Amino acid sequence: MRSDLVDAQTEASDIAREQDKLESDIDQVRQRMTRDQQRLDSGAITSAKDLENLQHEVGSLHKRQTDLEDVELEVMERLEVAEKKTATLAAEQERLAVSVEATERRRVAALAALDKDVEFAQRQRETVVPDISDELLAYYEKLRAQLDGIAAVAIKQRRCDGCRLDLSATDVGRIRDAAEDEVIRCEECRRIQVRTAESGL
Ligand SMILES: [Zn+2]
Repeated sequence: MRSDLVDAQTEASDIAREQDKLESDIDQVRQRMTRDQQRLDSGAITSAKDLENLQHEVGSLHKRQTDLEDVELEVMERLEVAEKKTATLAAEQERLAVSVEATERRRVAALAALDKDVEFAQRQRETVVPDISDELLAYYEKLRAQLDGIAAVAIKQRRCDGCRLDLSATDVGRIRDAAEDEVIRCEECRRIQVRTAESGL
């Protein structure tokens, strides 16, 4: 993208240089024609042969000027195309730069929000950890390492919040019979299941 723009800019400036060169050539031809015409008009040239030669040269110069002007027209058209292309690519690059900047801002904001979430979760964890035995905590950490970072989930309305599967009647019976402090685990996703007021048991 960036190199496309550089290529287009280079092409446009090459063509502009070509046009400058043509204008300078045309200018020289004009000056020479003016000089020849002045000599013709001055009456200083008396030889018929010299006059004829000079008139012939003015004719040739005129033809040369017309040819150069035709080439210049064609060059100007090419320049217009190249400049349009450059402008389009520059606008596109600008648009992309703005989009990249906006995405970067969103990324920074998202990371900041994540940092806050992590901080909040860590503070919550600190309040809970003192009430949990070292043994259970070690067990939890072991499971967490095995289960994509989520070792304990709530049961909500008889559904495991880890695997999102409904508990079977057997599960419900087993969990109901379990002691309040017994660690129960999901038969499906192997996570520790936490009973809450919303468990529907
Ligand atoms: Zn589960």
